[in-house]
Amino acid sequence: MSGAYPKLLSPITLSGITLPNRVLMGSMHTGLEDKVADFPRLAAYFAERARGGVGLIVTGGFAPNIEGWLSPFGSRLATRRAAGEHRLITDAVHREGGRIALQILHAGRYGYHPLSVAPSRIRSPITPFTPRALSAAGVERQIRAFVRCATLAREAGYDGVEVMGSEGYFINEFLAVHTNKRDDRWGGPYERRMQLPVEIVGRIREAVGPDFIVIYRISLLDLVPDGQDWSEVSQLARAIEGAGASMLNSGIGWHEARIPTIATSVPRAAFSWVTRKLKAEVALPVCTSNRINTPELAEAVLAAGDADLVSMARPLLADPDFVRKAAAGRSASINTCIACNQACLDHVFSQQLASCLVNPRACHETEILLRPAAAARRIAVVGAGPAGLAAATTLAERGHAVTLFESAAAIGGQFNLAKRIPGKEEFEETLRYFGERLRETGVTLRLGTVATARDLAAAGFDDVVLATGVTPRDPRIPGQDHPSVMGYIEAITGARAVGPRVAIVGAGGIGFDVAELLAHDGPSTALDREAWLREWGVGDPAQARGGVAGLRPRPAPPAREVYLLQRKPGKPGAGLGKTTGWIHRTALKMKRVEMIGGVRYERIDDAGLHIAIGDERRTLAVDSVVLCTGQEPRRELEAPLRAAGLRVHLVGGADVASELDAKRAIRQATLLAAGL
Ligand code: NAP
Ligand code: SF4
Repeated sequence: MSGAYPKLLSPITLSGITLPNRVLMGSMHTGLEDKVADFPRLAAYFAERARGGVGLIVTGGFAPNIEGWLSPFGSRLATRRAAGEHRLITDAVHREGGRIALQILHAGRYGYHPLSVAPSRIRSPITPFTPRALSAAGVERQIRAFVRCATLAREAGYDGVEVMGSEGYFINEFLAVHTNKRDDRWGGPYERRMQLPVEIVGRIREAVGPDFIVIYRISLLDLVPDGQDWSEVSQLARAIEGAGASMLNSGIGWHEARIPTIATSVPRAAFSWVTRKLKAEVALPVCTSNRINTPELAEAVLAAGDADLVSMARPLLADPDFVRKAAAGRSASINTCIACNQACLDHVFSQQLASCLVNPRACHETEILLRPAAAARRIAVVGAGPAGLAAATTLAERGHAVTLFESAAAIGGQFNLAKRIPGKEEFEETLRYFGERLRETGVTLRLGTVATARDLAAAGFDDVVLATGVTPRDPRIPGQDHPSVMGYIEAITGARAVGPRVAIVGAGGIGFDVAELLAHDGPSTALDREAWLREWGVGDPAQARGGVAGLRPRPAPPAREVYLLQRKPGKPGAGLGKTTGWIHRTALKMKRVEMIGGVRYERIDDAGLHIAIGDERRTLAVDSVVLCTGQEPRRELEAPLRAAGLRVHLVGGADVASELDAKRAIRQATLLAAGL
């Protein structure tokens, strides 16, 4: 199993347990961990990934006690009875030949409940609850809870545990003076602040014996003021090695840090250089993480000597068969994670079950079953945007004879616009994947073909899936026929030149994208690690404490003077993704984009765009006005097809255009195709 990825697919032994390859499925909370009733689904989700060949799975975080809960009644492993319930999960993974470790996560002051505890009584900026400062006896109780959780994990059949020491959770809070103001044996100089994880790992090793994997997730870059500097991180790494850990995994950035660490605009492998620094400090195997999403990249990172293993969480959500496809030389057919966060982390942070935008089966393995069709039908799919592509490939996979019609010269629909936005280059990967899937599943593709109702009826299809997408909404602003006015498609494709001063009407997803594109000059920083680190003010922790102290963001100057407008009162961007909205808003602020809410559009003329904000009237003296005012469904084929007696199904924007996003389009199309 070496082929094109000799390093990635080579075995490694941790504490006497040999893993078949260097792919670690990183911990990610899905929401299925919280209730035992959901364990069968969690087991199916992990089993599918084990079958796909991943070297070692790490579960989402389980608290060692109630004080360490992430949220009230959230995932916890603290009793023998609970350990028995985990057997379902570990057995399912082992039956597929996989290995699985349980992550022990004590949320500390990030706990979203009134019982949270921390080294000091300091509330985090992202939770409403002020934690209780632990007494010395209280600290001892937490250590014992960690150790008990690890022994219960062993009893439950896990192959190991990961002790979560990063991301600003409980252990990390002891390490940084930012949150640890204690003066007892757990606070003060670093030697004392770091004693907590060293005790935890040492006592876990003592309790579980030598033949059990103990991973410590170490915070390499805290990305907060008063975070750890490199001499402290390396001192801790060596002490953890001495305490008996099997491996160190990389953690980057506290949750409260205002620097993106995994969003799609973060360059691929943006932080593997920090794991490389760690590797130089210890003899233990080290694992790198963050924005590594293809086997080629993972191999390159290992070949460069940055790490011994690669952690991928979201890429395994996107494609459970990532490793198996890589090993079979079919990397082009991997459904690549585009780092959008839209269905995974955005869901988790809004108390919904995680899934994946490009793979709606993720965490729904027991419900969305792609069984062979009872009887093969002839099905036409009209429109090769995300919805049409998902429908066509799923239908064909199930054995239907599918013809996909697309009026443009290429597949992709609105994704062809998205991929042109700086920081959204990953969207191209989804088009590559679907292109490959169309070939693999045998869909007949008719590009550059306008499908008419008459042709479709004459061709004798049994069903027609209309995935004809959207058309831009007309905002009816007086003067919008002025030569300065254009639609977003013209602005994004470059079909029309945009002047140095520009007003964007509409601040939805597309308005923000257009602002990003027009404010930006030169190559995308998502493709240039050094430029990106400079842009966000991230540096070497050997020089800057926490990777940020004394540094300030140094973005390139804006390419244009940009105004981004909406009629709704309040700051634009409130409806953007839960975990990424702040990044888009910050990026535009860095480009000095003026974002204005509560606007009435009065008219457009030679002087520019005239607006009113309450009683105030303002003329934005702009050279260009770009309309990004939402969408209307395109479904003019529906009525004639129905009149001709065909079965018609609407998916994606053709069904409902308002606040259309690819997540809904792909999910709806997949569900439809799974049931036809
Ligand atoms: P949207 O999110 O619905 O936003 C439309 C914007 O236009 C809103 O800001 C709305 O705000 C304004 N608007 C609506 N009707 C208007 C009117 N009659 N006159 C003036 N302004 C009006 O739609 P979108 O920006 O087109 O994005 C659609 C979805 O596609 C997003 O949710 C996103 O998930 C996804 N997306 C797609 C792409 C892509 O490239 N295809 C890119 C990014 C995001 P007010 O009503 O307050 O003015
Ligand atoms: Fe990746 Fe987006 Fe899927 Fe999350 S939802 S796993 S970020 S593609």
